[in-house]
Amino acid sequence: MEEIDSINSTPTFHAPVLCAACFKNITEADAFCNNCGYPLNGTDQEQRFFISERNSKEIDLDHAHKEIKKAGNILFYIAGFTLVLGSILAATSHDGQSSSLFITNVVLAIIFAGLGFWSRKKPLPAIISGFALYALIIILNAVVSPLTILSGIIFKIIFIGLFIRGVKSAIAAEKLKKELGVE
Ligand SMILES: [Zn+2]
Repeated sequence: MEEIDSINSTPTFHAPVLCAACFKNITEADAFCNNCGYPLNGTDQEQRFFISERNSKEIDLDHAHKEIKKAGNILFYIAGFTLVLGSILAATSHDGQSSSLFITNVVLAIIFAGLGFWSRKKPLPAIISGFALYALIIILNAVVSPLTILSGIIFKIIFIGLFIRGVKSAIAAEKLKKELGVE
């Protein structure tokens, strides 16, 4: 009975091979790599074109990761700055609000640092949340006393610029990762 089975079954086994572009396992029978779309049966020219496109996407992804890291670092700078400024304000405050002022700034510093760590794993939501919180603090301070918007205006402009680039890069990185078939 076993012998008949082995005679009747057609051999469909393909040895596992690695894709020349993404190095994931592929089946030689496929026309395109399931993971990255590499034209396995394409002409030399098609394959070379695919590889060069892939290389430039990898460079773009590398660049996006650097911008994401910069935006993540801004979250840590803001955390440190909030802590230092909060301590100074609390120490020099004379209206009896020093402890609530200090606690508020410590909580904000912890939130910014937490978002900084989160940005290493989930850059897009972390950078957007950090940016939103930063903008909200600037707006609330400006409502209470409008002139605060001018203090450290250069830093504010630089930070906001880096946040925007970070968000754009995080969106670009997610798209590139999907196209490249990498995690
Ligand atoms: Zn592939």
